[in-house]
Amino acid sequence: MESLRGKNAITYTRVSTTEQKTIGNSLTSQKTKIRKFCDLNGIKILKEFEEDWSAKDFERPEYKKLKKYALKNKKNINFLICVDWDRFSRNQKLSAVEQLYFTSLSIELNCIDAWRDFSDPASTLINAIDMALPQVDNEYRSKKIRDGIRQANKEGRYVSKQPLGFVKGKDEFNKPLMKPCEKLSPLINELFKDFSSGVISQNQMLKMQKYRPLKLSKSNLSRLLRNVLYAGKLVLKENDKKVKIIDALHEPIISFELFQKTQMELDKRSRYKQKPKKYNAKLPLRGLLKCSKCGSNLTGSGSTSKTGNKYYYYHCNPKKCNERFRSELAHEKLLNYFKKFELNKNVKNLFIEILKEQYLINENSKIKLINQLTNQIEKIKNDSLVLVQKCIDGIFGDDIFKKKQAEYNRLISEKQLELENLKGIDDDIEKFVRFSIELFSSLDKVVKYLDHEAFNELMSSIFEEKLEFEDKIYRTPKLNPSIKYIYQEMNKLVIEKQKTEDKISNVSRLVLEMGLEPIRTLLFIGF
Ligand SMILES: [Zn+2]
Repeated sequence: MESLRGKNAITYTRVSTTEQKTIGNSLTSQKTKIRKFCDLNGIKILKEFEEDWSAKDFERPEYKKLKKYALKNKKNINFLICVDWDRFSRNQKLSAVEQLYFTSLSIELNCIDAWRDFSDPASTLINAIDMALPQVDNEYRSKKIRDGIRQANKEGRYVSKQPLGFVKGKDEFNKPLMKPCEKLSPLINELFKDFSSGVISQNQMLKMQKYRPLKLSKSNLSRLLRNVLYAGKLVLKENDKKVKIIDALHEPIISFELFQKTQMELDKRSRYKQKPKKYNAKLPLRGLLKCSKCGSNLTGSGSTSKTGNKYYYYHCNPKKCNERFRSELAHEKLLNYFKKFELNKNVKNLFIEILKEQYLINENSKIKLINQLTNQIEKIKNDSLVLVQKCIDGIFGDDIFKKKQAEYNRLISEKQLELENLKGIDDDIEKFVRFSIELFSSLDKVVKYLDHEAFNELMSSIFEEKLEFEDKIYRTPKLNPSIKYIYQEMNKLVIEKQKTEDKISNVSRLVLEMGLEPIRTLLFIGF
């Protein structure tokens, strides 16, 4: 790295609150590492910024100062240096935006643990992956948390935020279990009784003096009356759809009979109100289309012909506008449109190969981290034994022993959790990606198998705006920027077919822009 000599840098170090205790990750050790690197390469450090803050975005106090400083002194600064890419941010899109900002100031963002030579075109791709991997990792972690909540729920233990009238608590095994709030729970009980009597409306209840302490609002009152947790039950969701009610472990505030009576009362009253339009499988694009004549949102409905056949149409508000077309035609044209997203097989394979390679590198650092954690746990366990010995020897008393012991136990369980998380990160990202790319490439076939929610999710991740159907074709829709880019690149690649075989840089750019976003969407909707 000859070219680094004589260059100037500012540095940025960051820890999250949980990481702070982890040896090897502290601010000081990050700083030392960077100083050593700069020393070795003849880089002069102009200013060091350190962030003791955990945040998902760039709303970090020290980071803001850094940007201000960089802007003011841009002429003198060549590099912004971090230890690793995930120190910078675990959100890929934000990283890319911030990196662009520094590039605009002619400041190069780089990381000493994975120094990239940006004069090499292939580095753009690697860099995109550098920034994407921490995010993928984050998402696996949050999936882990969701799984944990689901498991607790299955056992009847409600672990999310307590609804009004419940407070935090512990059961006899010292596990979290909410309990009725002494002050508010009798009021809630009364509220259910009042409402189910059928005499008092929700609006009246909102005004009643005695319910003031509950700080009710229109929306939280109706939610409250529908919440089965008050009756000591819990709703289990499976596949986001199937609903099953089970007995929960927490103490109820009302009886199940009272709850059921309340539901009947609620249903009775809502029957008088207008029903919202239900999803109709024959009209999946309802809500996703805009009128090409007047710009209003289109709706859809079926009508029976003289011969008794039922036909479905999308149409504008008939009072204002006569726009109307057959639903089947709109569906068929949409599938045709999706066919445009078919990816070239060579490009698909190349992308997967590149990702696989990068994944292996990441895998190695994961193993390193696992070893590190295992050693740390061993050390704490040892310390804990020493502590016991010291207590036996009478060096200190029971109080200190208990306090220290609790701290060790907490540290051990923290590290064990971290370890579990690491081990839990699925080993088949490649499989996921391969599968997702295949799917993305055959959207026209895939959409048939999506349910309503997944279909809407997919549509909104592909299109930026509602679609307009005019003279039997779709007006060129506004695509999500990353999808748009792939689509454009695909067309270029098709034109230059013979040249594409080993043009890594083309693919690199493509992947950079694509930024794993559509894949994430597909993963999100359950593929
Ligand atoms: Zn219209």
